[in-house]
Amino acid sequence: MSSKCYRSELVGLFGYPVDENPTVVTIEAGFKALGLDYRYITMEVRPENLEIAVKSLKALGYKGANVTIPHKVEILKYLDHVAPDAQIIGAVNTIYLKDGQTFGENTDGKGFIVSLREAGIDFVNKKIVVLGAGGASRAITVELAMAGASHITVVNRNEERGKILVGILSDKTPVTAEFVLWDHTYAIPEGTDILVNATNVGLYPDASCPDIYYDTILPDMAVCDVIPNPPRTEFLKRAEVRGARTFDGLAMLVNQGRIGFALWTGREAPTEVMKEALQREFAQ
Ligand code: NDP
Repeated sequence: MSSKCYRSELVGLFGYPVDENPTVVTIEAGFKALGLDYRYITMEVRPENLEIAVKSLKALGYKGANVTIPHKVEILKYLDHVAPDAQIIGAVNTIYLKDGQTFGENTDGKGFIVSLREAGIDFVNKKIVVLGAGGASRAITVELAMAGASHITVVNRNEERGKILVGILSDKTPVTAEFVLWDHTYAIPEGTDILVNATNVGLYPDASCPDIYYDTILPDMAVCDVIPNPPRTEFLKRAEVRGARTFDGLAMLVNQGRIGFALWTGREAPTEVMKEALQREFAQ
């Protein structure tokens, strides 16, 4: 008889669509580097199956999961516990299981902030414009507001979603916030320090750009895209042409993954190994 354990610990990802999501590459590179017998399973979960999918995590003995489009907001009502900042954000991107209970966290905004800090971009007392008002935008704007940004403009097509986010920022954080309805080509206001694309526009296979006047991007702006695939989106390329410093979604992805990695494994994530794995993947 062999005493070897043939069972791997499981974590995964819920999304729809999810085929193009590269998170598995970074997380499994981390497992391998630490010699952990863990698997990260990318799962297509349709919205109508979200509740049963969350229940299945318990039944299948998962350690946890990441949550992506379009589930980050809806999933809150199916979890046993939600962290206080994730409640303000109103979105969860990371689940972990403890004592048979599901716990929700939001690590997107925290990963974004760490990436800005690593790049030496100061956001304290700065004016920030964020395109989009979905899960990623909520996480980024709430964390920036709580970390000292002075003013945040949320630009979104869907008026209700944009106004709800601005209401959250105004009521629950110290920042001043305004909403702009995105029903026209948007001109970035003078005096903007940081511009963030937090929409799906440009996510593979879509190669389009957010509908803004690119000649209103100035060289002293920092321009960030949350899209990890492809890392150099058309949005960032056009901002570079305008002389702005640009930051892609890869570093944010790796930094937000760190927190989940530690919750699932109890180990510090080997972020350099994880970042290199992702860069190799996109170089192919
Ligand atoms: P949601 O579905 O919650 O929100 C999508 C947002 O994009 C909404 O504001 C939506 O506007 C806007 N949008 C979609 N299509 C268009 C369009 N054609 N023109 C203008 N606005 C548009 O998604 P998430 O917020 O969860 O994710 C958004 C992006 O962020 C994804 O590409 C995802 O890959 C990326 N992401 C990256 C992370 C990283 O670590 N790098 C982490 C998390 C997300 P409306 O409300 O008007 O429909």
